[in-house]
Amino acid sequence: VAENLSREKRSKIMASIRSRSNKDTELALCLILRRHQITGWRRNYPLLGKPDFIFLKDRLAIFVDGCFWHFCPRHGKFPSTNSRYWKAKLERNKARDKHVTATLRRSGWTVLRIWEHSLTDSVSIANSIRRHLASVGQREPRERIQARAKGISFRKV
Ligand SMILES: [Zn+2]
Repeated sequence: VAENLSREKRSKIMASIRSRSNKDTELALCLILRRHQITGWRRNYPLLGKPDFIFLKDRLAIFVDGCFWHFCPRHGKFPSTNSRYWKAKLERNKARDKHVTATLRRSGWTVLRIWEHSLTDSVSIANSIRRHLASVGQREPRERIQARAKGISFRKV
């Protein structure tokens, strides 16, 4: 029965789901950025959680979250076979997302998470990214955020 899917077979299935959806969603956002002439982004930048895109100068990290792997509230569901395994796995993914977002924010990054299903609305995604980039100048300075995180009170010199 499916419940007895071998470990090897299961990891093959997982690898295929993962690579397919990751490549597709990254590519989709790439096209949106190009179409809306948003420049200055980089990919594969070594940062916690491996964001799909970053704007280094503006310290904006963008993740495109696949509806399955990141358990989207609209489309996330536990597969009916091996349900215990999947429940644990997907809940771990979700907890990790939360941890990554919180940690990056604490070190001064703006984090934008985009659901795979919202990639169809390229205009609102482009607007949202532009809004985030525009608000960077008005943000609290990084030194101050870090000082507060360490419990140091910030004094104006
Ligand atoms: Zn979804």
